[in-house]
Amino acid sequence: MKIWLDGGLQDTESARVSVFDHGLTVGDGIFETVKAVAGRPFALTRHLDRLTRSARGLGLPDPDHDEVRRACAAVLDANPAPLGRLRITYTGGHGPLGSDRGEHGPTLVVALGETTRRPDSTAVITVPWTRNERGALTGLKTTSYAENVVALARAREQGASEALFGNTVGQLCEGTGSNVFVVLDGEIHTPPLASGCLAGITRALTAEWTGARETDLPLDVLERADEVFLTSTLRDVQAVHRVDGRELPGAPGPVTAKAMRIFEERAGHDLDP
Ligand code: PLP
Repeated sequence: MKIWLDGGLQDTESARVSVFDHGLTVGDGIFETVKAVAGRPFALTRHLDRLTRSARGLGLPDPDHDEVRRACAAVLDANPAPLGRLRITYTGGHGPLGSDRGEHGPTLVVALGETTRRPDSTAVITVPWTRNERGALTGLKTTSYAENVVALARAREQGASEALFGNTVGQLCEGTGSNVFVVLDGEIHTPPLASGCLAGITRALTAEWTGARETDLPLDVLERADEVFLTSTLRDVQAVHRVDGRELPGAPGPVTAKAMRIFEERAGHDLDP
């Protein structure tokens, strides 16, 4: 297996980053997960734009899009896989222990992970912890993911594959690695970015292609929504058949099933929508 590091391909087993890399010591880094379809990255332009927004939010130098594109292509060529996920990690680089960055430039790693096709529907839970809709890191895709790891572990304990967060004012926000949509009276709604959720690329495409509306939604909308679904790079559009103790029989319902079909068709036609 080959990864991209320090400007070229390296063997995964021998590739090394400093033990003082700030991505490791203080979570000072950002990332993107990009779906690879038949050896090509999906929606890479949107991912690169978000990577740059996240870099600017953290005060990291702008990532070199040409290098990241070359790295993705090189990693995909070197590791043929029918369906995979590229992981682009970009950190503050190695520096002194503590939060001050050193003089070394950022670290860029591009690696390929395996992925499997997700089932059409899944169970989710809500967690009592809140997303901060007004934090310094709100909306940035940073490597500071430990809260998501904890929430996801709780979901797994309860037989679910995702945990949903509300924000500090009790509105529905997002999952640990997905955005959330609800169907009310036949209309599709998703929380606005002001809720604190990540600007998911699958969210944006799904909203554009289905006409879903951005709406402030109380967390308890999940108790009465006709249908609920998740979007993410790794899930595409995935129906929810249970939220906490509430079953949503027949998931995917008709509106979700249509959204799934639309996404599959449109995404299948255009690798960089
Ligand atoms: N929200 C969070 C916190 C995420 O980590 C992710 C993806 O990793 C998403 C939403 C979905 O974003 P995307 O559709 O770009 O994968």
